[in-house]
Amino acid sequence: MSSSLLVTNAALYLDRGLEISDGWIHLEHGRVKAYGPMNLAPPEADRILSAEGRLVTPGMVNSHHHMYQNLTRSYAPVVNGTLFECLKGLYPLWATLDEDAVYLSSYVAMTELLLGGCTTSMDHHYVHPRARLIDAQIRAARDIGFRFLATRGSMTRSVKDGGLPPDSVVQSEDVILEDSERLISLYHDPSPGALTRVALAPCSLFSVSETIMKESALMAERHEVRLHTHLAEDPDEDVYCKEVYGCTPTEYFERSGWASARSWVAHYIYPSGDEIDRLARKGVCAAQCPCSNMMIGGGAANALDLRRRGMKVGLGCDGSASTDHASLWLEARMALLLGRFQNGPHSMTARDALDMATRGGAACLGWEDEIGHLRIGACADLVIWQLPPLSRAGALSDPVEALLRCAPATAWYTIVAGRILVSEGQPCQSDLDRVLGEHERAARRMQKLS
Ligand SMILES: [Zn+2]
Repeated sequence: MSSSLLVTNAALYLDRGLEISDGWIHLEHGRVKAYGPMNLAPPEADRILSAEGRLVTPGMVNSHHHMYQNLTRSYAPVVNGTLFECLKGLYPLWATLDEDAVYLSSYVAMTELLLGGCTTSMDHHYVHPRARLIDAQIRAARDIGFRFLATRGSMTRSVKDGGLPPDSVVQSEDVILEDSERLISLYHDPSPGALTRVALAPCSLFSVSETIMKESALMAERHEVRLHTHLAEDPDEDVYCKEVYGCTPTEYFERSGWASARSWVAHYIYPSGDEIDRLARKGVCAAQCPCSNMMIGGGAANALDLRRRGMKVGLGCDGSASTDHASLWLEARMALLLGRFQNGPHSMTARDALDMATRGGAACLGWEDEIGHLRIGACADLVIWQLPPLSRAGALSDPVEALLRCAPATAWYTIVAGRILVSEGQPCQSDLDRVLGEHERAARRMQKLS
């Protein structure tokens, strides 16, 4: 591993409003040390990488995902159902999850994310048929060198309490709270440049008890960790909250002590304008999942409206019960298409989508001081993009628009904390083939295929 790296001859998108058309960026000790135009002599470095006119951006930040679901990617028996039909069909399969399966699915998801330009991801793991599954995810992230925010997901309501999942994947309040404390004390690293952090993430308002919602918010406050959940994803959630709590999902969220700058929510499709304004004022962020919303077909969040009202919005690829890839490039492109489709031709540019995929995601994860941009002192997390020569032919006037408008782009290089994890379009892990073989065997077992 080089302690300093110089990327030259690149178009640099360093942050919103900070671009250099032909420049260099110098990384040292896991941080951005300097940048400048090519006509300003760059410093010496242990390694020099010529990016040959390619675009460099900050690494994208994935703000919503369920990695274990890639074990049942595109699962034919349920794939064309509603969200609830899919989940009901898949929970019995997911009930067989064990530590190995979670390690393998996390390893595959993180590698796929790196190839799609993502350098930091959260994961919302809320299915716990066995103990210590999040420990296995953290092991996978550390083996790869990926920056990871693990979230301790939870469910307390199974079929017998009117919920969707079987009894074997939900847990008691005591077990959830005890394990949350354990994970925070063991793995949460608040120090600058950390590679592992932990947040608390009850699955949704209708899958956990009121006690878990309230206690999670209090625990997050005590330990200064982030809070995450699904919110206002489905109209059925409105009906449920009215019946059980006598209020809307957002009102219940506020009542449970969640309306604070510590929280970010996934989806947020069905709030009223006034509710968005209230949460925006409190500093709550939202993760939009454009592909998931469109694949499920039940409505999509209007990220531009959320942003106009002052809410910071990140992008997430969501799990494979609703979308079957882990490419933040694809989510950024879809956010651009969806935003323009919903709001008109003058509403949104590629830079807005890129800002959501980088700064927006970092805001969701409470990490905007260090990631989601490449200002001096930021973490050295960046992507050098590759567009196939055929699909970038003629795209000469604006590399940022070209990135999201032309044919699919993947990472040529992905760098996390100054370490090269994707090189010339290939993941650097030497054991990836073995992991993929074991992942296939685990997926076959789960799907009961020979
Ligand atoms: Zn989700």
